[in-house]
Amino acid sequence: MDKARLLEELAGEIRVCPLCRLCETRTQAVPGAGNATARIMFVGEGPGEKEDLEGRPFVGAAGQLLNTLLEQAGIAREDVFITNIVKCRPPGNRVPLIDEIEACNDYLMAQIAIIEPKIICPLGSPALKTLLGGDLKITQARCKVFRKSGILFIPLYHPAAALHRKELMPTVQADILVLKELIERDIREDEITDLTPKTPPVCDVSKAASKEVTEDSAPANLSLF
Ligand code: URA
Repeated sequence: MDKARLLEELAGEIRVCPLCRLCETRTQAVPGAGNATARIMFVGEGPGEKEDLEGRPFVGAAGQLLNTLLEQAGIAREDVFITNIVKCRPPGNRVPLIDEIEACNDYLMAQIAIIEPKIICPLGSPALKTLLGGDLKITQARCKVFRKSGILFIPLYHPAAALHRKELMPTVQADILVLKELIERDIREDEITDLTPKTPPVCDVSKAASKEVTEDSAPANLSLF
């Protein structure tokens, strides 16, 4: 089956999803939109009021700014795929709770598996932490290149950050041009931080003795990669 059909089937499941409390307050779920064969995927936080009413991602004020930024960088919205870590609006636009993100994570992973993007841009801190792990800070990770299980990640500030804090606007505008520059050329190995979990050798006694792996030391991300 082709990628567009697979994504549409998945969207059908998402629209009737009962897996967390957000289904009780949503008008519509917002599965995501864009090109099923996109090289670049943007992952935001969660639908806002307008997205909840229209069933499409990034159609409100943050979406208008995202459109402008993409246009300024010469990236066509039709060429990318845009979705969120949670597909239903958190009431009052609060940050999604961990169990809501967990409940929705299989949908995001399935979208990534179908689209097979070369580059994923987590937009803002919750998307960054969900995709790459809890230790990273958006202020430090923005515009850097990470690799995880064969996919490159280039985190960016969420466009809403520049709407709430006007002083961030020049940075957000400059960052999208950095993204454009990165996606148009070969990214060198020395520019990439590899976050792919390393499987320890079966019998590395020295490491096993020196560092006990506990639940707490496991990466905080929810990725299924
Ligand atoms: N903010 C998001 O993170 N996602 C949307 O779809 C809209 C606003």
